[in-house]
Parts: sequence; structure tokens; C-alpha cells
Amino acid sequence: MERLVEVEKVSFEDTSTENILRPSIWDEYIGQEKIKKNLQVFIEACKIRDDVLDHILLFGPPGLGKTTLSHIIANQMGASIKVTAAPTIEKAGDLAAIVTNLSEGDILFIDEIHRLSPAIEEILYPAMEDYRLDIIIGSGPAAQTVQIDLPKFTLIGATTRAGMISNPLRDRFGMHFRMNFYSDDELAKIITIAANKLGKPTKETASFEIARRSRGTPRVALRLLKRVRDFAEVSGENTITLDRCKYALDELGVNDKGFDEMDLRLLELLISNKGRPMGLSTIAAALSEDEGTLEEAIEPYLLANGYIERTARGRIASVKSYELFRLTPPNFALQTNALFVD
Ligand code: ADP
Repeated sequence: MERLVEVEKVSFEDTSTENILRPSIWDEYIGQEKIKKNLQVFIEACKIRDDVLDHILLFGPPGLGKTTLSHIIANQMGASIKVTAAPTIEKAGDLAAIVTNLSEGDILFIDEIHRLSPAIEEILYPAMEDYRLDIIIGSGPAAQTVQIDLPKFTLIGATTRAGMISNPLRDRFGMHFRMNFYSDDELAKIITIAANKLGKPTKETASFEIARRSRGTPRVALRLLKRVRDFAEVSGENTITLDRCKYALDELGVNDKGFDEMDLRLLELLISNKGRPMGLSTIAAALSEDEGTLEEAIEPYLLANGYIERTARGRIASVKSYELFRLTPPNFALQTNALFVD
């Protein structure tokens, strides 16, 4: 079944409305203020110098606005943007086809850049540094290197796994930005703007209710808004009210912290281990969930909010998790999780 608080892009309906809701100007891009301020300065400076923007690396869990930010950067630079994902670049020829089709000043957005193979990374280095492609044709003694000059372009790499980017690749990006989870205030603003675009305005209290349950993530907020809108639609209401919101979200199984069944099962599993750390592969097997999904999409919010702790020997539930289930934490958890007590 589709996970409602899922942060990955999941269905066609979601992808198509996502494009309508995606902001294209700074004013509609809520939050991430520090990143926004810095980028606005760098973009302005580049425009004054009539130069191309330096390469940018964006870190952060899925759904926090990396792709959206890249579109806004392109918009502000008056440049075209080409969007691709690392797993689709398998051969040198795939990368060559993409970069040779760019024009001067274009933005190339590569999602999941940590998944580029080392061979492709090698080809990317001169492309990033000297706007040059070195392609080897043939093999053995007859192999020849052909150099192709490229237009000056800006690479924006996005990754959910900061630790998995190789150092040489990381070093070739002139700017690094880490995206943060959003506050309830920021998410409520995003929800209000989106609800107006969808033609189903929300009461302020309703926007906040959805925000509180959105795991600090705009993509989740928009997904919940769309489902709540369906409930309002069927009830013949023109405005989304707090009551309708609460009813819909409870019906959908999203609790008041934005946790769904999978989060709760993960916390219960860790709690059942009585303070002993549990490895990722054991958790994945016990929950029949993919290790990557656990690490990239489910854990980050629970970690950022202090519900679980990651130790060298595995994951443990924090005091906050025990409190959530109204349980007394074992002494072990009390000692190791003292930092997480509110
Ligand atoms: P990522 O690339 O990090 O996975 P996206 O850029 O695709 O995330 O964002 C998911 C959706 O959330 C977008 O369609 C956009 O409408 C919305 N969104 C993301 N960040 C913001 C923001 N700062 N302000 C308003 N809407 C946002």
C-alpha cells in the first residue's frame, strides 16, 4: 500500500500536481532562509560579472525542496535546466549526450548524485573543472582520447546521503548547502499557498494541523493536503476546516506527530529490544522494509527529532520514544539518551 507520509515521489497523480504546486519564484519558496540569502547574493554577483554560477551540492532528505530550489536558481539566472538522476547515467555515452546538449549558462541537475559510478565520476571531473570531456575511444594500445569542449554550465548535485559522496567529487562543488527540516510555521505557509492554488483554501488552524503531521517535509505536507482536500470535496465543503482535517488525517492513519504505521512499528521494534542497539539489516528484515528506504526516508526525521539514536553498534529507541508509548525507559536508555529529554 502507498505510504501516505512517504517522502519519495510515488504516483503519477502526485508528480503531475507536484509540478503545478512547485514554486518558481523566491517569494513562494518558504524557509531555508540562510541558503536562500546566500544564493541570492551569489546569483546577483554572477549576473553583474556576466558569469556562470559555480557548481552547487545540495544535501538533505527527500522532499525538502532540492529540485524546487534548482528550478528557482535556473529561473533567476534566466537559464534552462536539464533534470536527470544518477542511476540513469550508466555509460560514458549517456553523460556525454547530456552535457554536449547543454548551452552556455545552462543548469544540469543530477539527483541522487551519490549513485554515480566511479567511472562516470572520472569523466565528470574535467567537465566540471575545465568544461571539457575526455572520451576514450577503443581499448588497449589502439585506444585514443578525444577531447570535446563544453559550454560553461552549472552542475547542481542533490543527495540524500552526504556520507556517500566521494571526496574528489565533493571538492569540485564550489557551494555546499545542507537543507533542514521545516518548522510547523513554514509548512503551514506552504500548505496555505498550495491550497489556494488547488482552489480549496484552508482555515489557518487546518494548515497548522496538517503542518504538525507532515514530518517537517513539504512533499509530505502537500500529499496530506491533497488527501484532506478529497475529504472536503466529498463533504461538499469549499474551505478546509480544522475538524475536517483532524477527521481525514485520523482516518488516513497519520497520527498527531505525523507518524504512520511504519514509524510506529520501527519504534516498537527498537523498544522491544530493551535498550540494546539493533543493526540496520536486522531492522529491515524484521519490518520487511528496504534498508535504503529506512535509512534515507524513514529514519532521518525520527533521528532529527530525537526519537531514535544511532550508535556505532546500531539503533536504539530514545527516552522520547518510550514516553510516546507511555512506557518506562530501561536504565540503559536513560543514560545514553539523556540528551534527548525535552
Ligand atoms: P526534493 O528534490 O528535495 O526531493 P522537491 O523539490 O521535489 O524535493 O520538493 C517536493 C515538493 O515540495 C515540491 O513539489 C514543492 O512544491 C514543495 N516544496 C519543497 N520545498 C518548498 C519550499 N521551500 N517552499 C514551498 N514549497 C516547497
